[in-house]
Amino acid sequence: MHRLLRAAFNLLFPLQCCNCGKIGNPLCQFCFAKILRKQKFEDHVLYAAPLHNNPILRQAIHHFKYKGAKEVGAELVKLFKEIPQGIFIPVPLHPERQKTRRYNQSLILARTFAQHANSSVLDILLRIKDTAHQAHMNRAERLRNLHNAFAIEKNTSRLSPHEQYFIVDDVSTTGATIQACATILRQHGAHYIAGIVLAHDQVMVNFPSKSGN
Ligand SMILES: [Zn+2]
Repeated sequence: MHRLLRAAFNLLFPLQCCNCGKIGNPLCQFCFAKILRKQKFEDHVLYAAPLHNNPILRQAIHHFKYKGAKEVGAELVKLFKEIPQGIFIPVPLHPERQKTRRYNQSLILARTFAQHANSSVLDILLRIKDTAHQAHMNRAERLRNLHNAFAIEKNTSRLSPHEQYFIVDDVSTTGATIQACATILRQHGAHYIAGIVLAHDQVMVNFPSKSGN
Protein backbone atom coordinates (compact mmCIF):
# COMPACT_ATOMS: atom_id res chain seq x y z
CA MET A 1 0.00 0.00 0.00
CA HIS A 2 2.83 2.29 0.88
CA ARG A 3 4.34 1.93 -2.61
CA LEU A 4 0.99 2.40 -4.24
CA LEU A 5 0.40 5.58 -2.28
CA ARG A 6 3.85 6.78 -3.24
CA ALA A 7 3.12 6.16 -6.95
CA ALA A 8 -0.15 8.05 -6.66
CA PHE A 9 1.65 10.86 -4.88
CA ASN A 10 4.26 11.08 -7.64
CA LEU A 11 1.52 11.20 -10.23
CA LEU A 12 -0.24 14.02 -8.43
CA PHE A 13 2.92 15.84 -7.39
CA PRO A 14 5.61 15.01 -9.96
CA LEU A 15 9.19 16.17 -9.52
CA GLN A 16 9.51 19.71 -10.66
CA CYS A 17 12.31 22.22 -10.91
CA CYS A 18 12.72 24.07 -7.62
CA ASN A 19 13.45 27.26 -9.52
CA CYS A 20 11.17 27.44 -12.58
CA GLY A 21 8.63 24.75 -11.75
CA LYS A 22 9.18 22.77 -14.95
CA ILE A 23 8.10 19.14 -14.54
CA GLY A 24 10.59 16.29 -14.67
CA ASN A 25 13.67 17.22 -12.66
CA PRO A 26 14.25 18.71 -9.18
CA LEU A 27 16.56 21.24 -10.83
CA CYS A 28 16.13 21.48 -14.60
CA GLN A 29 19.08 21.69 -16.99
CA PHE A 30 18.20 25.21 -17.97
CA CYS A 31 18.28 26.53 -14.41
CA PHE A 32 21.30 24.40 -13.49
CA ALA A 33 23.25 25.94 -16.38
CA LYS A 34 22.50 29.42 -15.06
CA ILE A 35 24.16 28.77 -11.69
CA LEU A 36 27.43 30.64 -11.41
CA ARG A 37 30.18 28.13 -10.65
CA LYS A 38 33.48 29.18 -9.23
CA GLN A 39 35.24 26.30 -7.58
CA LYS A 40 37.86 27.22 -5.03
CA PHE A 41 39.91 25.62 -2.31
CA GLU A 42 40.54 27.98 0.54
CA ASP A 43 41.52 27.43 4.17
CA HIS A 44 41.21 23.66 3.72
CA VAL A 45 37.66 23.86 2.33
CA LEU A 46 36.63 23.03 -1.25
CA TYR A 47 33.68 25.08 -2.52
CA ALA A 48 31.79 24.62 -5.80
CA ALA A 49 30.26 28.07 -6.05
CA PRO A 50 29.65 31.37 -4.32
CA LEU A 51 26.23 31.92 -2.75
CA HIS A 52 26.41 35.65 -3.27
CA ASN A 53 24.79 36.89 -6.53
CA ASN A 54 23.77 33.32 -7.29
CA PRO A 55 19.99 33.39 -6.80
CA ILE A 56 19.18 30.01 -8.37
CA LEU A 57 21.74 28.27 -6.20
CA ARG A 58 20.42 30.05 -3.12
CA GLN A 59 16.88 28.99 -4.01
CA ALA A 60 17.94 25.40 -4.70
CA ILE A 61 19.80 25.10 -1.39
CA HIS A 62 16.82 26.59 0.43
CA HIS A 63 14.53 23.95 -1.09
CA PHE A 64 17.05 21.24 -0.34
CA LYS A 65 17.39 22.21 3.32
CA TYR A 66 14.02 23.50 4.34
CA LYS A 67 11.39 22.32 1.85
CA GLY A 68 12.05 18.62 1.84
CA ALA A 69 13.47 18.63 -1.71
CA LYS A 70 16.06 15.97 -0.94
CA GLU A 71 16.62 15.18 -4.64
CA VAL A 72 18.06 18.63 -5.26
CA GLY A 73 21.19 17.72 -3.27
CA ALA A 74 22.34 15.12 -5.79
CA GLU A 75 21.89 17.64 -8.60
CA LEU A 76 23.91 20.28 -6.78
CA VAL A 77 26.82 17.91 -6.25
CA LYS A 78 27.22 18.05 -10.06
CA LEU A 79 28.42 21.64 -9.65
CA PHE A 80 31.84 20.24 -8.74
CA LYS A 81 34.21 19.70 -11.67
CA GLU A 82 35.30 16.51 -9.99
CA ILE A 83 34.80 14.92 -6.62
CA PRO A 84 38.05 14.34 -4.72
CA GLN A 85 38.98 10.95 -3.33
CA GLY A 86 38.41 10.47 0.36
CA ILE A 87 36.03 9.42 3.09
CA PHE A 88 33.05 11.72 3.59
CA ILE A 89 31.86 12.73 7.06
CA PRO A 90 28.65 14.78 7.27
CA VAL A 91 28.26 17.70 9.65
CA PRO A 92 25.57 16.43 12.02
CA LEU A 93 22.34 18.14 12.99
CA HIS A 94 21.27 18.39 16.58
CA PRO A 95 18.63 15.66 17.23
CA GLU A 96 15.98 18.31 17.88
CA ARG A 97 16.57 19.95 14.53
CA GLN A 98 16.77 16.60 12.77
CA LYS A 99 13.37 15.74 14.25
CA THR A 100 11.71 18.76 12.67
CA ARG A 101 13.62 18.56 9.38
CA ARG A 102 13.44 14.75 9.23
CA TYR A 103 16.74 14.41 7.36
CA ASN A 104 20.26 15.67 7.52
CA GLN A 105 21.04 17.43 4.26
CA SER A 106 24.80 17.00 4.85
CA LEU A 107 24.37 13.23 5.06
CA ILE A 108 22.57 13.25 1.70
CA LEU A 109 25.44 15.23 0.19
CA ALA A 110 28.03 12.95 1.79
CA ARG A 111 26.35 9.87 0.28
CA THR A 112 26.27 11.49 -3.14
CA PHE A 113 29.93 12.49 -2.93
CA ALA A 114 30.84 8.96 -1.87
CA GLN A 115 28.89 7.51 -4.80
CA HIS A 116 30.73 9.74 -7.26
CA ALA A 117 34.11 9.05 -5.68
CA ASN A 118 33.34 5.36 -5.21
CA SER A 119 34.25 5.62 -1.55
CA SER A 120 32.42 5.63 1.75
CA VAL A 121 30.57 7.73 4.30
CA LEU A 122 31.34 7.78 8.00
CA ASP A 123 28.37 9.22 9.85
CA ILE A 124 30.18 9.41 13.18
CA LEU A 125 29.84 12.98 14.37
CA LEU A 126 27.19 14.06 16.85
CA ARG A 127 25.90 17.50 17.60
CA ILE A 128 25.54 17.60 21.35
CA LYS A 129 24.77 21.29 21.76
CA ASP A 130 21.80 22.94 20.07
CA THR A 131 23.75 25.98 19.00
CA ALA A 132 22.24 29.39 18.37
CA HIS A 133 21.74 30.49 14.77
CA GLN A 134 24.96 31.91 13.49
CA ALA A 135 23.82 34.14 10.66
CA HIS A 136 24.77 37.34 12.43
CA MET A 137 27.94 36.14 14.08
CA ASN A 138 31.51 36.72 13.01
CA ARG A 139 34.12 33.99 12.99
CA ALA A 140 35.22 34.43 16.61
CA GLU A 141 31.62 34.41 17.83
CA ARG A 142 30.87 31.33 15.76
CA LEU A 143 33.83 29.48 17.17
CA ARG A 144 32.69 30.35 20.68
CA ASN A 145 29.13 29.30 19.83
CA LEU A 146 30.40 25.96 18.53
CA HIS A 147 32.65 25.25 21.49
CA ASN A 148 31.89 21.69 22.67
CA ALA A 149 29.06 21.48 20.14
CA PHE A 150 30.33 18.28 18.51
CA ALA A 151 31.38 14.86 19.67
CA ILE A 152 32.12 11.50 18.10
CA GLU A 153 29.91 8.40 18.32
CA LYS A 154 30.89 6.13 21.15
CA ASN A 155 32.85 3.04 20.13
CA THR A 156 34.10 4.64 16.92
CA SER A 157 37.45 3.06 16.13
CA ARG A 158 40.45 5.36 15.71
CA LEU A 159 40.60 7.13 12.38
CA SER A 160 43.50 6.45 10.07
CA PRO A 161 46.32 9.00 9.92
CA HIS A 162 46.82 8.00 6.26
CA GLU A 163 43.28 8.51 4.94
CA GLN A 164 41.90 11.73 3.51
CA TYR A 165 38.70 12.77 5.30
CA PHE A 166 36.23 15.34 4.02
CA ILE A 167 33.78 17.07 6.34
CA VAL A 168 30.61 17.69 4.33
CA ASP A 169 28.25 20.66 4.69
CA ASP A 170 25.90 22.53 2.36
CA VAL A 171 27.10 26.08 2.95
CA SER A 172 30.05 27.49 4.82
CA THR A 173 30.56 31.09 5.80
CA THR A 174 33.59 31.38 8.03
CA GLY A 175 34.60 27.73 8.08
CA ALA A 176 33.98 27.65 11.85
CA THR A 177 31.71 24.58 11.74
CA ILE A 178 34.16 22.64 9.58
CA GLN A 179 36.96 23.66 11.92
CA ALA A 180 35.04 22.53 15.01
CA CYS A 181 34.36 19.14 13.38
CA ALA A 182 37.97 18.84 12.22
CA THR A 183 39.18 19.32 15.79
CA ILE A 184 37.16 16.31 16.92
CA LEU A 185 38.39 14.15 14.04
CA ARG A 186 41.98 15.12 14.72
CA GLN A 187 41.63 14.16 18.39
CA HIS A 188 40.40 10.83 17.11
CA GLY A 189 43.46 10.10 14.99
CA ALA A 190 42.72 11.70 11.60
CA HIS A 191 45.53 13.66 10.02
CA TYR A 192 44.38 14.66 6.54
CA ILE A 193 41.15 16.60 6.97
CA ALA A 194 39.45 19.07 4.64
CA GLY A 195 35.96 20.41 4.12
CA ILE A 196 33.74 20.07 1.06
CA VAL A 197 30.68 22.30 0.75
CA LEU A 198 28.38 23.37 -2.07
CA ALA A 199 28.57 27.08 -1.56
CA HIS A 200 30.64 29.74 0.04
CA ASP A 201 28.68 32.48 1.78
CA GLN A 202 29.96 35.90 2.70
CA VAL A 203 29.99 37.20 6.22
CA MET A 204 27.65 40.17 6.27
CA VAL A 205 27.99 41.04 9.95
CA ASN A 206 30.37 43.87 9.29
CA PHE A 207 27.85 45.63 7.08
CA PRO A 208 25.02 46.85 9.32
CA SER A 209 21.75 47.15 7.45
CA LYS A 210 18.44 48.65 8.44
CA SER A 211 16.48 45.63 7.35
CA GLY A 212 18.54 43.45 9.66
CA ASN A 213 19.84 41.32 6.83
ZN1 LIG B 1 14.19 25.16 -13.95
